[in-house]
Amino acid sequence: EVTFEGQHITVAGLGVSGISAARALAGFGAKVTVVDGGDSETHRARAAELRAEGVAVRLADAETLPEGTSLVVTSPGWKPSSPLFAAAAEAGVDVVGDVEIAWRLRGPGAPPWLAVTGTNGKTTTTRMLASILEAAGLRTAAVGNIGTPIIDVVLDAERHGTLDVLAVELSSYQLHWAPSLAVHSGAVLNLAPDHLDWHGSMEAYAADKGRVYEGNQVACVYNAADKATEDLVREAEVAEGCRAVGFTLGAPAPSQLGVVDGLLVDRAFVENRQERAQELAEVTDVRPSVPHNIANALAAAALARAFGVEPAAVREGLRAFRPDAHRIEHVAEVDGVAYVDDSKATNTHAAEASLGSYPHVVWIAGGLAKGATFDELVKGAAGRLRGVVLIGADRALIREALARHAPDVPVTDLERTDTGAMSAAVREAARLARPGDTVLMAPACASMDMFTNYNKRGEAFAAAVRELPAASA
Ligand code: ADP
Repeated sequence: EVTFEGQHITVAGLGVSGISAARALAGFGAKVTVVDGGDSETHRARAAELRAEGVAVRLADAETLPEGTSLVVTSPGWKPSSPLFAAAAEAGVDVVGDVEIAWRLRGPGAPPWLAVTGTNGKTTTTRMLASILEAAGLRTAAVGNIGTPIIDVVLDAERHGTLDVLAVELSSYQLHWAPSLAVHSGAVLNLAPDHLDWHGSMEAYAADKGRVYEGNQVACVYNAADKATEDLVREAEVAEGCRAVGFTLGAPAPSQLGVVDGLLVDRAFVENRQERAQELAEVTDVRPSVPHNIANALAAAALARAFGVEPAAVREGLRAFRPDAHRIEHVAEVDGVAYVDDSKATNTHAAEASLGSYPHVVWIAGGLAKGATFDELVKGAAGRLRGVVLIGADRALIREALARHAPDVPVTDLERTDTGAMSAAVREAARLARPGDTVLMAPACASMDMFTNYNKRGEAFAAAVRELPAASA
């Protein structure tokens, strides 16, 4: 079945997924070369390790295609415009990602995939889904954009028969590089501009997200409040009998899941759809019980129900679920002010959801904008803002949007991009806040201008909150 033997495969990127792909493919008898533009000590250490296992590594050159390459396996972050891919196209060589390799490695009887994508809420929804599947007594793992590299999990399942079903989080990058994926059921949670610098346009970004529906077997789950997701279902080619299933925060139409009288209900996967909705869980079973997260829970429930999971397990799984760090995480209350870490709000759509969850907010924002504009976000949030503290590389974009749409809101631009700026920002936010307010670090930007990643940014925020004079008093 698997046809990698004897192939000369070039793996682009010496990161976690690249190393996993290189090892797996070498294990199937492929001649593997990993290429990477870097040449740091970390790179060299990783290279030495792989070379000892018989994998060739070429550092300090990410551009030229090694002689004889028959397939390129790329790490998700590499832009489609990378010179290496131009060279591959020139040579008539396919470029795919690790998700595609994992998909091709599945044998007959492999665990089905339930896939989740969208601009925001992917990790949360995928983990909720895994929690529900576990509550149903199924052996599962949350993989893809999270957890153990997907190739490793798929191979392990092949060899040991250890899994019944996978909950797979897929980024737009991963979908872009996974042309033959055709999952059991897939969901697009929402669509808002993000990573446009990578994809080139909103159309291209949406098309890549829409790949999660392509060839689906049982259900295409869409957000009834986000028409763009429904359009993607309509455009997809799916297996016969595959159904479109919507989720809504209102009362569901037939073939939707929704909310009625504080209950999550299902009208899609019930015996007699016209008659009555099946109760799944209470809204308060979802944590945190804020609107966008209830939407995530409905999407997870829809995928689980498509797989045949019973209502009781949906409820039990949602109750057992604990949110990950840095996602609307309550850090502390100091002088009557709540401090909330939403460092994972790395784009305007996510920040909009969390800003909308609190009535009076001192907002800490800024970082790398990734081509975004802030007018809509600021316009929508203006009435809730007690004040704003700006840090990071692209803070001027937010400052200008605030000047246009919220001229009366006090704004402090710290004009800093150093790591220590976070504690200055927290002190300034504490000064602007009144009792009952929420200081919300939901930067609407990526973190890499100041921090290694959003985790580090969230940790810096939490540390700064603990250093507030009143916090230690
Ligand atoms: P992803 O894996 O897609 O980045 P996460 O579950 O990690 O998503 O959540 C990312 C951020 O998006 C969080 O900060 C959260 O506040 C926000 N968020 C989560 N779910 C949604 C949603 N359905 N709509 C809008 N924003 C959301």
